[in-house]
Amino acid sequence: MTKKTICVDFDGVLNEYNGYEEGNLGEPLTGSKEFIKELRGKYKVVILTSRPKEQVIDWLNNNCFPSMKVTNRKVPAVAYIDDRAIQFNGSYKKVISRLKNFKPYWAKEYYRVYNIVTDETIALFNDIYDATRVCNSYQSQDVRIQRIPGELE
Ligand SMILES: [Mg+2]
Repeated sequence: MTKKTICVDFDGVLNEYNGYEEGNLGEPLTGSKEFIKELRGKYKVVILTSRPKEQVIDWLNNNCFPSMKVTNRKVPAVAYIDDRAIQFNGSYKKVISRLKNFKPYWAKEYYRVYNIVTDETIALFNDIYDATRVCNSYQSQDVRIQRIPGELE
């Protein structure tokens, strides 16, 4: 029986990634090799990337990944694994809404509204719009917003 295909994105899924940098493919993410090996037990894995595919093939070989097809073209697959995907579930409205605050996991940040004189934290938000609303409601020059990398617990 032929295996079904799974497409796996490269940047941010297999490598450490903080935004595109030509020629810098980064280091493998912890567990990425084991992830690919587990997938390959059940599926044919195709790497789908917007990078030049020769660079990705070299990176995979240099980092001892199994040999896989690498492509820049979307191929038929049962699922696509991608750090920048928003799943379409039949509602355009939901997609637009999710898109508004969408960030890939590696670009997560949250916002601290604080008093610059006392350094007292007033509130923490995932959403810049909420932070701005609260900040403006103080009508004080001493209240500011600080972006903090990472995820709000
Ligand atoms: Mg990606």
